[in-house]
Amino acid sequence: RLISPENVDSDESSIEKSLRPQLLSEYIGQDDVKNELKVYIQAAKQREESLDHVLLYGPPGLGKTTLAMVIANEMGVNIRTTSGPAIDKPGDLLSLLNELQPGDVLFIDEIHRLPKVVEEMLYSAMEDFFVDIIVGQGSGAHPIHFPLPPFTLIGATTQAGMLSAPLRDRFGIVEHMNYYKTADLEDIVRRTADIFQIDIQESGAHEIALRSRGTPRVANRLLKRIRDFAQVSDKDEVDLEIVRYALKRLKVDELGLDATDLKLLKTMIKYYAGGPVGLNTLAANIGEETDTIAEMYEPYLLQIGLIKRTARGRIVTKKGYDHLNYPLPGKDER
Ligand code: ADP
Repeated sequence: RLISPENVDSDESSIEKSLRPQLLSEYIGQDDVKNELKVYIQAAKQREESLDHVLLYGPPGLGKTTLAMVIANEMGVNIRTTSGPAIDKPGDLLSLLNELQPGDVLFIDEIHRLPKVVEEMLYSAMEDFFVDIIVGQGSGAHPIHFPLPPFTLIGATTQAGMLSAPLRDRFGIVEHMNYYKTADLEDIVRRTADIFQIDIQESGAHEIALRSRGTPRVANRLLKRIRDFAQVSDKDEVDLEIVRYALKRLKVDELGLDATDLKLLKTMIKYYAGGPVGLNTLAANIGEETDTIAEMYEPYLLQIGLIKRTARGRIVTKKGYDHLNYPLPGKDER
């Protein structure tokens, strides 16, 4: 059938694929990261060696997977992608490593969530390109030695601090991905609009960029929904008016905050006098996972200065109170 779930899925992923830039020169923003990688890639190619292992860290949706693909493409090698939680046992890792050709990239998303036994097996794979696996049990147990081709491990994580020191130390190249500047996000919105053949005005692209939490994935997602609103309103162009209207309907405010962000801030103000309050308590109160808050919500609220971390927990800043139009309690310095 035309609209079977499979078709929709493969369609979605091919759209996702078409949005991913292929080359460093097409990858918008993150100039520091790109400039460094350019050097390391060129040098590795000149020496005809595999690229050193790369760790990319930063909030979700900033383009870590995309960048890993760009790196493989620039190196002219294949990439295998997987994620930490998907590799259950050492055997799973071995079969992934076994399929690599010399120079290939193995991309592990959420690498901080690798099971310990798998992580430990990675150490020798990364350092000396071999793994030893114990087979059999009791007195019959013995190691089997598997040599591996030289390869590049690209790991992605939302927080470098969540990685164990031995794993972190084995990455020769460590890059921090920052939230995107508004101008870069505007370019990304225009590029996506081009691919989707959406006519968009400067002011519309600018407004989407301002409300995308510095994150390309959010910018692309908002653009897709706004396109729907434009279409049903019979607009052949995405202008400022339709962007503002759609974002109001989507409950995304002027700073790009959604209902969960606002609930989080309001809970802190109303029930904890603006903090300090711990992440676990807060998560339980608003019915979200602690990890979700730590990875998706808190970093942006910190970035734009609506909350602050203190030794005793998170507090809402003056800017946070102002944004929600709540009066600051007492003469508190926030
Ligand atoms: P992450 O792995 O960090 O969660 P992704 O690589 O999946 O993020 O990127 C999310 C989306 O944003 C993808 O659709 C990707 O094409 C787009 N994107 C990310 N970074 C860029 C960029 N620098 N230029 C253009 N599009 C980007």
